[in-house]
Amino acid sequence: KKTNEHLEEEVKERIKAEKEANKALSKEKELNELKSRFVSMASHEFRTPLSTILSSASLIGKYTTTETQPNRDKHIGRIKSNVTELTSILNEFLSLEKIDAGKMRVELAQLEMVAFLDELSDELATVAKDGQDIVLETIETNCIMNTDPLMLRQVMTNLISNAIKYSSSQIRVVLTDLDKTVELSVIDQGIGIPENDQKHLFDKFFRAHNSHHIQGTGLGLNIVRKYLDLLEADIRFESEEGTGSTFTIILNK
Ligand code: ADP
Repeated sequence: KKTNEHLEEEVKERIKAEKEANKALSKEKELNELKSRFVSMASHEFRTPLSTILSSASLIGKYTTTETQPNRDKHIGRIKSNVTELTSILNEFLSLEKIDAGKMRVELAQLEMVAFLDELSDELATVAKDGQDIVLETIETNCIMNTDPLMLRQVMTNLISNAIKYSSSQIRVVLTDLDKTVELSVIDQGIGIPENDQKHLFDKFFRAHNSHHIQGTGLGLNIVRKYLDLLEADIRFESEEGTGSTFTIILNK
């Protein structure tokens, strides 16, 4: 005959097992929802780039003389940028799937922030629009942080890529070394975010109303928020429709 203690122990075990099963189930539900929403988003978002790739590829075949070389180059450029766009949509989905499944591990390393931001700004300047400089502003010459370089790189890439996409003039990247934190800001003078949309900005698949004419998935900022949670860092932003946006991440030293 079981004692009361034994019974209590058994009940506790069962409740624990049930809780774990529920947790696994809700994670699975979340992943399934991500997948089905991604499929419906992708079937819409893939259409324009795919048809551009197809028409450019067929036109290239018609431009065979030296006079038509510039046309050929233009269409090759279009194919490249559309393939890049489609690849980045798929990569965003795969990252988010990995994060949501709890499979992303933080790997800390020493990172010198000034050189890191300098290189990243130069790299992203190659995909910026004509006349859209990316300028790094800081009074620091050396600022070493213990962080996950790949995650931080993805976070900053997403923020700077958004600034490129949603503006057409200079983008400032500002590093400020404070007492207990280091702040990194990305400042643009672009279309801004309507006030009513601001509270949803980090939700999965959310896109502000003034940005629907520009390609996007609404996954980038959700990924940013989740990476920053893993890094125990924070983000804030200020934005005004038609004036521009400033996104600032706050890293703890
Ligand atoms: P995506 O850019 O792929 O749509 P994000 O998750 O990166 O997805 O951003 C979500 C939404 O937030 C965008 O669709 C856009 O409406 C808005 N947004 C993000 N960054 C900016 C920015 N720098 N300027 C204006 N709007 C922005």
